[in-house]
Amino acid sequence: MTQPLIQFENVTKRFGSFIAVDDVSLDIQRGEFFSLLGPSGCGKTTLLRMLAGLEMPSEGRILIDGVDMSATPPNRRPVNMVFQSYAVFPHLTVADNVAYGLKIDRVAKDEREARVAEALRLVKLDEFGHRKPDQLSGGQRQRVALARALVKKPKVLLLDEPLSALDAKLRDAMRAELAQIQHDVGVTFVMVTHDQDEALAMASRCALMNRGRLQQVAAPGDLYEYPANRFVADFIGTINMFEGRLSVDEPDHAAVTAPELPAPIYVSHGVTGAPDTPVWVGIRPEKIAMTPAHEGRPAGPAACPDANVLAGTIVRSAYLGSETLYDVEAEGGATFKVVRTNGERTLAPSLPVGEAVWLSWTPTAPVVLLG
Ligand code: ATP
Repeated sequence: MTQPLIQFENVTKRFGSFIAVDDVSLDIQRGEFFSLLGPSGCGKTTLLRMLAGLEMPSEGRILIDGVDMSATPPNRRPVNMVFQSYAVFPHLTVADNVAYGLKIDRVAKDEREARVAEALRLVKLDEFGHRKPDQLSGGQRQRVALARALVKKPKVLLLDEPLSALDAKLRDAMRAELAQIQHDVGVTFVMVTHDQDEALAMASRCALMNRGRLQQVAAPGDLYEYPANRFVADFIGTINMFEGRLSVDEPDHAAVTAPELPAPIYVSHGVTGAPDTPVWVGIRPEKIAMTPAHEGRPAGPAACPDANVLAGTIVRSAYLGSETLYDVEAEGGATFKVVRTNGERTLAPSLPVGEAVWLSWTPTAPVVLLG
């Protein structure tokens, strides 16, 4: 097995009696675009700052390329930090901004110029070397900051909310560019963000944190489809969650009954093997089929025909162009969020508020999480 580039080993960080990072163990592989994700205050920036050497762990150690960084100051670590886009010197040209770190390191002029040209080419700013930052767009300024970090050839590039200063449209464009640049240079990126869309769109793997603890480390699709716990299921995307109990739990199927729902939820996998265990069951809005009541009750799963079908009434709808979001009040009182893609060109929702509908889902749609 190849050695991970970055290893956090049981890292804890305390500020006084407050635990900002709680016993985090995590490996990051060479060449990954890794994202530290979580709500405000979860400890992700503190974790990044410890990697940079700007904070020291209270316990545990951090290794880069197998070397314990405990005694290595920030400027000696093979990492470079990219801050938000305003972190460029306004009085220097783009090329001088990028060359700055190399000058400090006393890199010879010829090599410096070659490396600056290469870094500007990578971020597609070759034509802009002579400009001042205030003659650039926000996205271009952000790329200057990136070139300034890349030119130093770090093993790891640390990005702290790199796109947060950009407006929404530019942020979208820069997501794709940043992912492309990372792919082209092959440098390991570790990015902190509280924006799940940003993490899911760019990262090859994400660590989701809450209250200083790692909740799950996985590829974006796995976080969404196979959340490890309720926090992950709730934080990533939208999910309909119900508290219940396992009424059946066999190796190849299980059923959950929830007080809010008149029909059981049937799934085509076993859970714990211990019936009556308290669980949470979640169903994503796009996995729920919605059909008008007059079309008749859809069939439930063959093995459990009573399950996975509920009658309801649409109580709200929000038209978003490409899709429509519905709130459906189901028999029993629970409100479900349902999303429908607007495939054909339509001017009005095909199912209006007040419409009686059936909600149904397949046995593979729900996720069952231990309480
Ligand atoms: P945000 O997205 O808001 O930046 P974060 O997840 O990056 O949040 P951190 O900056 O890592 O969170 O902070 C984690 C917790 O540690 C917070 O509650 C914060 O107030 C606290 N904290 C961070 N730095 C210090 C410090 N130097 N002294 C005391 N407490 C701190």
